[in-house]
Amino acid sequence: MRLRGSSIRTAIGRVSRQVLRPVAETLFPPNCWLTHRPTTWHEGGLSLSVRASIAAALARPYCGRCGATQGPWSFSYAGCQRCSHRNLGTVAVARAGTLEPPFSSLLYRLKFGRHWQIAPLLAIPLWQALQRQMTQCDLALDAIIPIPLHWMRNFTRGFNQAEELGWQLSRLSGVPMHRALCRIRQTTPQTRTSSVSARQDNLRGAFMVRRGYGFQGATVWLIDDICTTGATLHAAASALARLPAHERPAQICAAVVAVTDHTPPPLT
Ligand SMILES: [Zn+2]
Repeated sequence: MRLRGSSIRTAIGRVSRQVLRPVAETLFPPNCWLTHRPTTWHEGGLSLSVRASIAAALARPYCGRCGATQGPWSFSYAGCQRCSHRNLGTVAVARAGTLEPPFSSLLYRLKFGRHWQIAPLLAIPLWQALQRQMTQCDLALDAIIPIPLHWMRNFTRGFNQAEELGWQLSRLSGVPMHRALCRIRQTTPQTRTSSVSARQDNLRGAFMVRRGYGFQGATVWLIDDICTTGATLHAAASALARLPAHERPAQICAAVVAVTDHTPPPLT
């Protein structure tokens, strides 16, 4: 029986994943991205202690509307003191953790060290958080939309970390990713603006939906690496909400790797 091109590629990929990679990683074990200790192939580049920290971060309760950390007995999906008076543009936020180690360290290496190989490692807890939010808030997942960078920043960095995470989530979920948004003007980096209002002013009108995209009746998830005040997600959601009624999504949600509870600390 002749194998078609895609079947051959699938078979080669399976052999590579199941045979060649374990052999190569047994002979030359990859070091953990953070502890620099050798890891085994099934640990996926993160040592046991780092994965335990990620699991602990995933289990911490947070506000399902803005992502702010909550106390153990104040778990809320209807909003918290930080967000109940604000129009966020999104109906729910899923987060893997807060912007502290190990997420801050991994994001630093992903963004500024340009180690795009870290994106699949971060996508796993992000997908777990997203699935939990879908279950607990009874939400669907119809489309994945990464927050875009301005083309000039994309060019200088070489890749968009949100898009890398989006691709990985698409692979894990089987739901297509759409590059539906574009950043039509370059904004001051959000780390240089501190207040919520300054960040919202900085991002007002920064996004638009590309021609030809419509999400009528769909539940779409915006994907980003970090959420500080929510201004970026609000601006991106606003662009989707401005679509004509026959193209507008029914619900706009967001999934981010890390949320900052207060003023964002420097990535270390
Ligand atoms: Zn909240």
